[in-house]
Amino acid sequence: MSCRLRISYLPIRFVPFHLRFRQCGVLCRSYCKKRDNRGEIMEHVVFDGVQVMVGDSQLLQSKISSIQRDGPSKLQVIADFDATLTKYMIDGQRGHSSHALLQQGNPEYDLKRQKLYEYYHPLEIDPAIPLDEKAKLMEEWWEKTHALLVEGGLSFGAIKSSVAKSRIAFRDGVTELFELLERSNVPVLIFSAGLADIIEEVLRQKLHRPFKNVRIVSNRMVFDQNGNLVSFKGKTIHVLNKNEHAIDMAGPIHEQVGCSEESAADTASVKLRTNVLLLGDHIGDLGMSDGLNYNTRISVGFLNDNIESSSDSYRHAFDVVYMNDASMWGVVKLASQLCSTVKNEVVTSGPKFP
Ligand SMILES: [Mg+2]
Repeated sequence: MSCRLRISYLPIRFVPFHLRFRQCGVLCRSYCKKRDNRGEIMEHVVFDGVQVMVGDSQLLQSKISSIQRDGPSKLQVIADFDATLTKYMIDGQRGHSSHALLQQGNPEYDLKRQKLYEYYHPLEIDPAIPLDEKAKLMEEWWEKTHALLVEGGLSFGAIKSSVAKSRIAFRDGVTELFELLERSNVPVLIFSAGLADIIEEVLRQKLHRPFKNVRIVSNRMVFDQNGNLVSFKGKTIHVLNKNEHAIDMAGPIHEQVGCSEESAADTASVKLRTNVLLLGDHIGDLGMSDGLNYNTRISVGFLNDNIESSSDSYRHAFDVVYMNDASMWGVVKLASQLCSTVKNEVVTSGPKFP
């Protein structure tokens, strides 16, 4: 794999926005040499044509070294699903989320769920509502939605056909990331406030094989022998509680194949992995590591939209920010470094991350 790496050190506040993310060589380099010891420093890397922001490269390097020292046995990956593992845009159109892709096969109930969205979504994003009050509203919304799915007669067949018809795709490099982490015995926890059964069906249809290290922590359905939804397992996981506490609340992933003991062991061992690589596309996704007493966390943010208005807040919130619906290749490179005690033929070539 050929790699191009250009690094520019510059105080971001002095640079016009349209120049910040260009593959700027000469202009930024000469400017930065005069400025790089003063004030705010941002490292902007263009890596294989991908635009990346690193707010504090020294801090990032020290976190990488610390995780490397502890080894892959102490590492876990926590990932959001929609627009983090999946592409934000597909063929010029917004990709479906795992929730939005579901067609219940009953237009009356699809409409009822849409009405709930129209009522509760403004409350979800209202900054004036206190968090504990909002958590109750979100629980109410999720429970009403789940009740409609049961009442409206959702079948597992409808999930399969909804996924098959959906506009959803993984970012390039996601398969290779899962393969690398599987070889290194590093678990991947996908936290979602959506539906585990839909996400698993997306994994089944869009990836070439299952990964034993990938676990979905989300709302899990119970189907009867005819494949009709009858109830949900565990407690409701919504946008405000999708974190490491939810591991105990979610229905166990292996229950359907009779391996609940293995699942309990998985849960216990995950909590002993005190280094985290966290992937998200919203600043709120940083809360996914709540409930884990981690030593070192490297957070990677995908800034897919509203880049101009959100770049400063993302740069401060995440250790690394990929812009413009980037591929997962930069994360593969980073994960390869974090697991560097394990030989990996896929990503040993090219420069170190970032
Ligand atoms: Mg997301």
